[in-house]
Amino acid sequence: MHTVKHENVIYKFEPEMEPVLEVESGAIVHFESNDCFFQQLKSNEDVINEIDFDRVNPATGPVSVKGAEPGDLLKVEILAIDLADEGVSVCMPGHGALPDEVRESTVRVIPVKDGYADYLGLKLPLAPMIGVIGVAPSDEEGSFPTATPWRHGGNMDTRDIRKGRTIYFPVAQAGALFALGDCHALMGDGEVSVSGLEIPADVLVRLSVLKGISAPWPILETESETMVIASGKDLEEAVRHANSAVVGVLSRALQVQWEEAYILASLAVDTRISQVVDPTMTVRAAVSKEIISTEVFLENLKK
Ligand code: CA
Ligand code: CA
Repeated sequence: MHTVKHENVIYKFEPEMEPVLEVESGAIVHFESNDCFFQQLKSNEDVINEIDFDRVNPATGPVSVKGAEPGDLLKVEILAIDLADEGVSVCMPGHGALPDEVRESTVRVIPVKDGYADYLGLKLPLAPMIGVIGVAPSDEEGSFPTATPWRHGGNMDTRDIRKGRTIYFPVAQAGALFALGDCHALMGDGEVSVSGLEIPADVLVRLSVLKGISAPWPILETESETMVIASGKDLEEAVRHANSAVVGVLSRALQVQWEEAYILASLAVDTRISQVVDPTMTVRAAVSKEIISTEVFLENLKK
């Protein structure tokens, strides 16, 4: 098995990146994922403003997958997310969904064991997820800090990105150039304070190339649904991007008028908030596999 060590990180998803590893399509890769602060916060007494912000939001990688070319999809099966035994969560004045109400920067180191996070005397069930995951953007779109989610993926902070799920990325550069980081032991939809339970993790994924299928945004497959994960400068724009993609797919796949597909989306597609605290905001629009299979969904994607 291939391993990408935790010191091999990027802080931007860029059109041109030097891969640290090249693998065949279908390879399983182990990523050592850092927490979003690169493990700089270790106790409740640590001061957020004293950490090195140049080392925030590292993503481990990038990995080049042979045969991936622009216009393909990179299929990423999430096989395991094994967490460290302690995480950290924070809030800061001027950040999050309630920026004016935070009076002091606060750090809370939170133990994780036996399937629970132990916080405020509460046992919170773990739901490990990957916050930052993506591929190199197109030349036209240019570079994105790892903190910013967009069409290439990035900091989507979507709690459905977890073990057993499959996520598909639009390939924009030869080799795809895949990286991930920013795992959370758990997070609520919205991520309102600006952090999940940030935690180092060992992540196993299988990386495969699907030739000749392009996508406007990352697509996530769960046991029961297919989702478009889209971002925007605000929630309205993110909702528009996600639903525009879904309605186009439904119209083509079911061979119905666009307007009929739009009405179907209104009846049966769920738009859920992923996060409202990053430089762009993220939602996912979810379609039941009883309406359309993921395979047919992917076949009817167009850029
Ligand atoms: Ca994040
Ligand atoms: Ca995070």
